[in-house]
Amino acid sequence: HVYLDNAATTPMAPEVITEMTTQMQNDFGNASSTHWFGRQAHTVMDQSRLILANSINAKPNDIIITSGATESNNTALMQTAHTRQNLGKHIITTAIEHPSILRPLEALEAEGFRVTYLPVNDQGVIDLADFDAALDDDTILVTIMFGNNEVGSRMPIEAIGERLINHQAWFHTDATQAYGLLDIDVQAMHIDMLSVSAHKINGPKQIGFLYRGPKIYFPSFIRGGEQEMKRRAGTESVVQVAGFAKAVSLITPEVKAERQARYFAFKQQLMARLNAADIEFAVNGSLNPDNLNHVFNLWFKGISTYALQTNLDLAGFAISGGSACTAGSLEPSHVLTAMFGEASPRIGESIRTSFGHETTAEQIDAYADALIRIINRIKTKANA
Ligand code: PMP
Repeated sequence: HVYLDNAATTPMAPEVITEMTTQMQNDFGNASSTHWFGRQAHTVMDQSRLILANSINAKPNDIIITSGATESNNTALMQTAHTRQNLGKHIITTAIEHPSILRPLEALEAEGFRVTYLPVNDQGVIDLADFDAALDDDTILVTIMFGNNEVGSRMPIEAIGERLINHQAWFHTDATQAYGLLDIDVQAMHIDMLSVSAHKINGPKQIGFLYRGPKIYFPSFIRGGEQEMKRRAGTESVVQVAGFAKAVSLITPEVKAERQARYFAFKQQLMARLNAADIEFAVNGSLNPDNLNHVFNLWFKGISTYALQTNLDLAGFAISGGSACTAGSLEPSHVLTAMFGEASPRIGESIRTSFGHETTAEQIDAYADALIRIINRIKTKANA
């Protein structure tokens, strides 16, 4: 079986597994305990936090360990809104955010907050003119994803950060898909809050962080003990944190550049094979090399997502329909809907292929073979 669904999750790196195994066997102490066992665990937390902070040019004390990007997003949105509602009740976001942004915002709308969902073009990118028109004195929070998980588009994060330098609104970005692939500098980019998950970068699941910069103040979302500098209660999972930090330490700037280039080459390779076989397809998004190149979303006209996905699975290739799949029926993608309109045939005829560290050119060739075979078979049947 070939795994091409790395935007959903990634396998743990062998070094991460070794690190976590060692950790499990040695340091079981509670990081808050003052005895030797506690101090050992606390040291691992400190060392790990430093690695995480350095990865985005932040200070260790501005890194709050969470159970993943979902919790980081919920914390950033709910706590900012509730803490700052006296300053305004307006929030700006995009139409193509992850559900862990959209569902909390819906809850806030039900409480009386006003949310602007910026539209995107057919490349999956917002228009800064729309952003400028939406920003007003009532805006307390801007949350715009760094890059999109279904089509790989990259948002103009630097331009938004710059626009908010002298504005009261706090700037949050969900960097779950961009982290470990693109360079992120929270200071240079004027980012106030940033969410990340470890399992997208070959680390363990249910662990991530929320960066909250020096100007951010709000109470802990999870209330209880005084862990994480009183910003996130609950006994620290030192094993998970050590694995997360190990995964981050494996990703040097050179590794990021190599991955971006290799994933971009995979796209060219796959397209060349499809073209040579006269397969009709279109890219959902753009082929901008500065995008999140691990995500490749393709439309195969006249071929249903469901048929492609199930046949590829039978042939041993794991890809995604690009949206949640419930009991065999595909939920239409809100991302493709925002890009092409709800009447577009692309919505039910597209698949997301996502590359990872382990993906090879040989796998892409075998995948192209399977795709071509399956599409030709479906077409022959349709014409019979
Ligand atoms: N944001 C984005 C853009 C994502 O792709 C994901 C994972 N699909 C999340 C947030 C949520 O991450 P987690 O499930 O690890 O909390």
